Amino acid sequence: MTTIYLKPHKEESLKRFHPWVFSGAISKVVLDAKHQGDAPVEGEPVTVRSAANEVLGVGHWQVGSIAVRILAFGVEELPEGFWSERIRAAYQVRLSIGLIRPDNNTFRLIHGEGDFLPGLIVDVYADTAVVQAHSVGMHVCRKEIAEALVKEVPQVENVYYKSDDTLPFKAPVEGEKVGYLIQPSAVSIQHLDEFWSTENGLSFRIDWLRGQKTGFFVDQRENRALVERYAANKDVLNMFCYTGGFSLYALRGGAKTVDSVDVSQKAIDLVNINVARNFPDAKNHQAVAADAFEYLTAQKNAGKTYDLIILDPPAFAKHRDAVKNALRGYQRINAKAIEMIRPGGILFTFSCSQAVDKEAFRLAVFSAAASVGRKVRILHQLHQPQDHPINIYHPEGEYLKGLVLYIE
Ligand code: SAH
Repeated sequence: MTTIYLKPHKEESLKRFHPWVFSGAISKVVLDAKHQGDAPVEGEPVTVRSAANEVLGVGHWQVGSIAVRILAFGVEELPEGFWSERIRAAYQVRLSIGLIRPDNNTFRLIHGEGDFLPGLIVDVYADTAVVQAHSVGMHVCRKEIAEALVKEVPQVENVYYKSDDTLPFKAPVEGEKVGYLIQPSAVSIQHLDEFWSTENGLSFRIDWLRGQKTGFFVDQRENRALVERYAANKDVLNMFCYTGGFSLYALRGGAKTVDSVDVSQKAIDLVNINVARNFPDAKNHQAVAADAFEYLTAQKNAGKTYDLIILDPPAFAKHRDAVKNALRGYQRINAKAIEMIRPGGILFTFSCSQAVDKEAFRLAVFSAAASVGRKVRILHQLHQPQDHPINIYHPEGEYLKGLVLYIE
């Protein structure tokens, strides 16, 4: 196996179980004897050793500033049954914390570094697991991963692979980036048209073929449940609603009216399907395809107000260098929403940009409140749920943050 040697003292972070090796930490690369080229192939497993020749671990080689993502510490090679063992462990965690129940078969099974599998995301929807590779190493291992999923997770029969947007774009990978890896019952579009996954007793149509990310935002489950607690008799706006997660919980919580808004017509179609399935008689819900800023401006001009607004925009900053603009974006959208909240109303506001930290987001929301002259208090500080664990040695895994504000 190819061996990567680190410069002196660069082993410290690996000894503290941080799973990344940066290219600048490498002193030399000794290629496997079978190697044809003059560098490791992206995605190949490599052994990492310290300058003093201690074995630090085995990981996937990557082109870029993160050169290796460690899969197993303290060993030279991946042990037999590695994928099954890691997947079983992740499943046991979800089971032991009560996430897998007859009324909840929707959960994130693998959250990258948070489940000690850097570069891998797996969401489970009823009988289907949707797999995303964020590294070429995981792409290379996709079939073994799919087999382990079916073997270790009792509810999973189908495995769909969806990595067209997530693999490093420069990587010339072999094999399909999208498609079923395991599909025993000739699952087809019809499967999708009859498909329902259950989250806290609510049914969701999840379209992993055409939807965003893996098809659903599992990460808002607990925060949606909190909206349910506050929704009774309220006029609710669910802005950036996607498939209507927050809207269904608000309806179940007894909201007077719920408006769901998203720029994507496909998302709006799914919201309508989901509302019809769960609340066939609901007359107090409407879904609108519109741009958030335009919708809020038009509604404000028309004198519309709400008791409870949810703002869950897409990541405004995908990279560190976009943080400044992102903060301006958060400030603007929050100011617009706060203006439309009746005195004594509530705002649920979120940022899923990993590059924007908690403090910066909080400041952006504060300056939004100040700019429209409203008195605001924090009721809750929210974050990603328990099936998106943060590896304590890899704090970069924290990305979702939210504030629940009481607006006077
Ligand atoms: N709250 C959702 C997830 C939101 S994801 C849930 O619980 O599932 C962000 C959503 O914002 C996407 O559906 C995307 O289509 C939508 N979006 C992106 N830009 C937008 C814009 N300018 N105006 C309105 N919606 C937008």
